[in-house]
Amino acid sequence: MQWETVIGLEVHVQLATQSKIFSGSSTAFGAAPNTQANAVDMAMPGTLPVANEQAFHSAILFGLAIQADITRTSVFERKNYFYPDLPKGYQTTQLEKPIVGAGTIELIDGDNNIRNVRIHHAHLEEDAGKSLHEDFHGMTGIDLNRAGTPLIEIVTEPDMRSAAEAVACFKKIHAIVTYLGISDGDMSQGSLRCDANVSIRPVGSDTLGTRTETKNLNSFKFIEKAINVEVARQIDLLEDGKSITQETRLYDSEKNETRSMRSKEEANDYRYFPCPDLLPVVIAEETITALQNSMPELPDQKMLRFQNDYGLSAYDAGLLVEDRTVAEFFEAVAQQCQDPKLAANWVMGDLLAYLNKADLSIGQSPVDARALGHLITRIIDQTISGKIAKQVFEVMCGDGGTADEIIETQGLKQLSDSSAIEALIDQVIANSAPQVAQYRAAEPDKRKKLVGYFVGQVMKMSQGQANPGEVNRILAQKLNA
Ligand code: ADP
Ligand code: MG
Repeated sequence: MQWETVIGLEVHVQLATQSKIFSGSSTAFGAAPNTQANAVDMAMPGTLPVANEQAFHSAILFGLAIQADITRTSVFERKNYFYPDLPKGYQTTQLEKPIVGAGTIELIDGDNNIRNVRIHHAHLEEDAGKSLHEDFHGMTGIDLNRAGTPLIEIVTEPDMRSAAEAVACFKKIHAIVTYLGISDGDMSQGSLRCDANVSIRPVGSDTLGTRTETKNLNSFKFIEKAINVEVARQIDLLEDGKSITQETRLYDSEKNETRSMRSKEEANDYRYFPCPDLLPVVIAEETITALQNSMPELPDQKMLRFQNDYGLSAYDAGLLVEDRTVAEFFEAVAQQCQDPKLAANWVMGDLLAYLNKADLSIGQSPVDARALGHLITRIIDQTISGKIAKQVFEVMCGDGGTADEIIETQGLKQLSDSSAIEALIDQVIANSAPQVAQYRAAEPDKRKKLVGYFVGQVMKMSQGQANPGEVNRILAQKLNA
């Protein structure tokens, strides 16, 4: 039997507002426990929530970015459940009239093929606090700093057909919210997390299978792995003649497996009802127009522009725009060196490889865009070869200094003087009688391969500094003479 995977995501995005969704407490990350929880966040009797306008603006911007319907009158509901990190006994969320209605996320692959993932809706809600299990022996601590942090929850239709596609969708949401500036997108701090709903069905079937929901995946890698192991588990069950239980599961990244958390029978009855403390929120047309007019360039538009303006491939453009800071860095490098393709290769190649290894973000890069652009200029004007440039780049990352300083002090200038190169070549030819004989006896089409040996020798003697174009030109002359 051939199985088809079906995935729907529920993505939680922490909004980068200054204050909480219903109180004036700060949302800054990392403060000492409970120093950013006021009377509203702690659910003191008699306190009342006040809705944060900025949270609505952020949600509307997201809605406009995915061509969604914006709900003109939206309502908050209470979702009732008990948990120590939720002192109110309910989460304030939206159920019937979420601020963002149906929309679309476009996934564009490296060949410019588009696949649409339909968004069912996106709603505003508050985050809960945190339980701290490790700090207090035999007890659990409660930190309410996160309580009331504004979230949008984005719910997709079950439109994805592989773990890779789910990751692509999550990445696109990450890109959109960071381009809009409505979230810092920092997944290590939990700013974006997702629940993956997964089912399988026989290929060709158009009814949905029973799904499981794997909660709280907070990295691209974990989403991919969790979905893949969950699909494998479901296939095993069905092929053994067993059935899938609809349930909530947790992913254990150490064991690379999903485990049951609670089944549908144990599911809560949340007794949703409209929150009597909050009035319906009416959005004025002018607000929507103003937000539409403030919309920055989005990842898909940037990807297209990079192809049109800079002649990049769809694949390269797609990689560069995934992260707005990388895209902006690339543009600054391209402007500095005036060679976009070379700039793209350096940013995606040497620079990102170095930053990955050093575990730095692009904002922490020891080499800024101007400095990298300048180094590339020295390849273009033939002061150094691409290979030597890699050496210079390593020094720039390690000890610092500008490209010109390093080239000068380490004597790395490319040797382009043809008489000096000719002298080196004469020496190599004189020392390589057997190879010269072999070369001259070879068929013309085999010679191309054999010439590599001589190029290598000349480069070695010049410590990599001979201009390769010149070396090849003069070698061909001498060997074919
Ligand atoms: P509930 O009301 O139980 O939360 P929803 O209909 O809201 O369920 O769906 C929640 C998420 O699960 C959505 O992202 C949806 O696309 C996804 N989903 C629903 N059914 C399936 C299924 N059979 N397989 C995979 N995903 C599904
Ligand atoms: Mg739901």
